[in-house]
Amino acid sequence: MLEIHIATLFPEMCEQVLSESIIGRGRREQKFSVVCHQIRDYTLDKQRRVDDYPYGGGRGMILQADPIYRCYEAICQKSSKKPHVIYLSPKGSVLSQQKAVSLLEKECIMLLCGHYEGVDQRLLDEIVDEEISIGDYVLTGGELPALVLTDVLARMCPGVLSEDVCFEDESHFDGLLEYPQYTRPALWHDREVPAILLSGDHGKVDLWRQEQAQKETAEKRPDLYAAWLEAHPPVPEKKKSGRRRKKTAQTEE
Ligand code: SAH
Repeated sequence: MLEIHIATLFPEMCEQVLSESIIGRGRREQKFSVVCHQIRDYTLDKQRRVDDYPYGGGRGMILQADPIYRCYEAICQKSSKKPHVIYLSPKGSVLSQQKAVSLLEKECIMLLCGHYEGVDQRLLDEIVDEEISIGDYVLTGGELPALVLTDVLARMCPGVLSEDVCFEDESHFDGLLEYPQYTRPALWHDREVPAILLSGDHGKVDLWRQEQAQKETAEKRPDLYAAWLEAHPPVPEKKKSGRRRKKTAQTEE
């Protein structure tokens, strides 16, 4: 079972999000585990101070190395497995579905949420295995990025969604965006559901969805579509066997 530890100054904020809906249920049913750790609990002074001014001057406050390091040590002691430590940071490599899939191989992950102007570099050099960003913009803290990453990972843990196909069939999993989806009623504001979806012909529906996924990706994310085309080159005509081509021609006639 995947074990996630979130080191943060705002564990209540994380708990709130992680107790709701699909992720909350998966957590209660122990399909994965998430523990939120208050970094402030690992300070040694009465004021429970976690930050200080930057050396060399400049705006804002920097999270000190020591409380976070003690929090890390406590997580290492509690867990039998050494955590893979991820610092959520706008300098990190940008999160993708493929990245999340590869992280599922880890048994234990610690997510470090920075705040204010960031974290003392020496702590990052000491314990962090990799930095992950959720996009090229800056937030006030690492909590939302850590929750985003936890959600992406948790929904792929066995048993969280009813079937694996639920996430395998979605945008980004195979490099394409999802086809358009419809639900009842069949006619709404003069807009009809595509007739093929009401046909009951699963083969045709699958083909239509595949075509729509390609169309959607080509229109909305030409960058992704170009990469997908490169990985799925159309089968060249001459590779098809003569017999098969004849057959197709006959069927078409
Ligand atoms: N001074 C830093 C930004 C600090 S923002 C800089 O210029 O790089 C405060 C914290 O929010 C960071 O420590 C990080 O944990 C988190 N954060 C902000 N933007 C983020 C992003 N796009 N992805 C992941 N974490 C982010």
